[in-house]
Amino acid sequence: MDTTALHRFTADKPGHTLRECPHCALLQRVPDMKAGGAAICPRCGAVLRRQRTDPFRRPLAFAVTGLFMFAVAARMTFLVFDLSGRVNETTLESGPLELQAQGMWELAIVVFITTMFAPLAKLISLVWVLGCLQLRRAPRHLHAVFRWVELLSPWAMVEVFLLGVFVAYTKLIDLAHVEVGVAVYTLGALMLATAAADATLDHMAVWEALQRRGLTARPMNAADAPQLPVPGVRLLGCECCGLVTPAAPRCPRCGSRLHARKPDSLNRTVALLVAAMILYIPANLLPVMTIISFGSGSPSTILGGVVELADAGMWPLAILVFFASITVPVLKLIGLWLLVITTRNASSWRLRERTRIYRIVEGVGRWSMIDVFMISILTAIVRLGTLATIRPGPGVTSFCGVVIVTMFAAMIFDPRLMWDAAERRQEQRGPATMRTAQAAAR
Ligand SMILES: [Zn+2]
Ligand SMILES: [Zn+2]
Repeated sequence: MDTTALHRFTADKPGHTLRECPHCALLQRVPDMKAGGAAICPRCGAVLRRQRTDPFRRPLAFAVTGLFMFAVAARMTFLVFDLSGRVNETTLESGPLELQAQGMWELAIVVFITTMFAPLAKLISLVWVLGCLQLRRAPRHLHAVFRWVELLSPWAMVEVFLLGVFVAYTKLIDLAHVEVGVAVYTLGALMLATAAADATLDHMAVWEALQRRGLTARPMNAADAPQLPVPGVRLLGCECCGLVTPAAPRCPRCGSRLHARKPDSLNRTVALLVAAMILYIPANLLPVMTIISFGSGSPSTILGGVVELADAGMWPLAILVFFASITVPVLKLIGLWLLVITTRNASSWRLRERTRIYRIVEGVGRWSMIDVFMISILTAIVRLGTLATIRPGPGVTSFCGVVIVTMFAAMIFDPRLMWDAAERRQEQRGPATMRTAQAAAR
């Protein structure tokens, strides 16, 4: 363990929490900060905590607004398609329902979870936890509900869906008259409210409040949350709530399974990467949708869709879709392979930059869902028989598979292994080189 960082972190601050950096495993003390302050890991640059002005009531207000917007969006008209007097009106759930009717139930489930279930469940859980924390006697199960907020967050993709709506809209106005319904605007407001709730929420503050009020997975004592490394006691950092606690099967605060590193991380990441590479082939070769107009159908692939947008003169959108659908999946695959191979080789090459690559890969993956959402919207709205119909093609299921599988691969890869492997190699070479390497990493 790097003790110099410990001292530098807390030289003259009495209040602090012990944290293990989730990206480089450095154990350090995070001081109590003023509102607006952020604690950054000195070794890899990960944000360990952002202190907020009002960490409970502000995110609660935004989450309640988001819930209200969701209720409106779910009941109102989404898009109206009008082709020479033949009108088709859709709502938010039309996309998944139509995909299911076309036999693409896997895709229907993914679209339903990412655009409806996860955003709604996340907001309800957040309102429940923050609302109950305002009560004098809060229910005991709050830790389990807040764990759901952490689990659901990566799968709530309203902002990506809205971009999909925008791309679908620009494709539709070529075909017919399209009216944007109230649901699209309220979905925009829902996205802003959710982003504001996320930006004002201090996850650590919520976990600490739950701990203070005894609303934890099991009753906790001082030994469960030490403020300093205890000699002879093996400490583990919880990946869900961030508590650093003596080794045990489960975290006493949130109830998640505890492990020093994500189990079998490298092998599972490799298996998922291979699966994603296999799926990548049909995703790009097979048509993702077929546009039937006046009886004749023209299948289109992912790349074909980008070319169509460019031909229509919509360059910014063509570049955006090219980036999200073609560049991002390839860069994710290359990035994750690079991380896996350098970890396997115990390389100490640019550890800080490699950790940054991991953060980018983890954050950017969801944006590739634009094409999937666009196809789900087009399938639901263009249903006028031989006059004009859009059917999803087999390529879209593979493409969605690539996105989901690489998202799982990024979640399963444990970036701390890169630092462990490099440290082990340095230890074998000798303590002098280890100190130089640590100084260089900083
Ligand atoms: Zn770090
Ligand atoms: Zn925990």
